[in-house]
Amino acid sequence: MKISSLDLKRQYEGIREEINKAVLEVIASQSFVLGPFVESFEQSIAKFCHVKHAIGVSSGTDAILLALMACGITRGDEVITTPFTFFATAGSIARLGAIPVFVDIDPFTYNIDVNKIAPLVNTRTKAILPVHLYGQCADMDGIREIASANGLMVIEDAAQAIGSVYKGKNAGILGDVGCFSFYPTKNLGGYGDGGLVTTNNERLAELIKILRIHGAKMKYCHSHIGINGRLDAIQAAVLSVKLKYLDGWSEKRRSIAAYYHEHLEGLPVRLPKIAPYNTHIFHQYVIATSDRDALMKYLESQGIETTVYYPVPLHLQKCFEYLGYKRGALPESERASNETIALPVFPEITQKEQDYVIYHIKNFISQR
Ligand SMILES: *Cc1c(COP(=O)(O)O)cnc(C)c1O
Repeated sequence: MKISSLDLKRQYEGIREEINKAVLEVIASQSFVLGPFVESFEQSIAKFCHVKHAIGVSSGTDAILLALMACGITRGDEVITTPFTFFATAGSIARLGAIPVFVDIDPFTYNIDVNKIAPLVNTRTKAILPVHLYGQCADMDGIREIASANGLMVIEDAAQAIGSVYKGKNAGILGDVGCFSFYPTKNLGGYGDGGLVTTNNERLAELIKILRIHGAKMKYCHSHIGINGRLDAIQAAVLSVKLKYLDGWSEKRRSIAAYYHEHLEGLPVRLPKIAPYNTHIFHQYVIATSDRDALMKYLESQGIETTVYYPVPLHLQKCFEYLGYKRGALPESERASNETIALPVFPEITQKEQDYVIYHIKNFISQR
């Protein structure tokens, strides 16, 4: 049997007619960047996230960049974040000349360890940028407490967490600004790049809307130095169709995760833990074992595709050498990089396929 990490063709099969119609409508309108399709999507996603302002942008990376810019982050400012994430989280901080300050992760949720943040706050610290990794929110109450005690902004990297809920509140409204990605492989994926910024802050919303069009509220009058960070209409049309299905897909992901849990429990591997205050949406289902590389190779030999998110933590990336972190500095992140492996989890995976994955994990372990 061959099982890929993600099979987007199956999803498309189920919604083909609707998607094709929506895309053709955009083409017929010849309105391709921002415009009515984007505005209508922004309204429905704002409702979905229970947020006042939802601003469509060109990617998750640009969402983070624009959020940081709107919060006034600039050269020499320090932004506290996690090293166990996709590059864009810290890359966007460094792009602005600001300094990513890495905090180790909690080994159970893989999210930033809130207990390790406070000692790193100083007069240069301007913001905290937690990531809701794999679809589970970071412990935001602890983060907000430190932020408000020190006058810091909180920017959520919710790229993997659309529809995720923390203590009854949606990801994207748990800080000052939320950032989402619609990269095709995300839980709500477009047919190209796309992203979103969410906020309940009127002033930040206005600013982000201006910054995404080169800082010009009125055409050719530039009050700010912005970027080209717009969402295009074909993406908005695709996303509008898919958004209606998102809750159902998240529910499926949760039951797929529960099935893995039921059948892998008791084996000598570490299974994902859901913090009691969280509703996980399982963007990834990640297990951990010190035999990770051998397990991955074995599964591959059986036709099962798995992925490692992320093999090198950001504090050990070549481009961040200048920050001066040494191997061993953030041990939990480094261990996670060496030991974690993501199993196939997507709404359309069949139970037969899951059984095949489970069978081969057990088989691998019994041969050790
Ligand atoms: C995908 C992702 C991003 C970047 O989103 P793009 O749309 O690919 O630019 C940022 N942070 C995290 C945690 C992500 O998973």
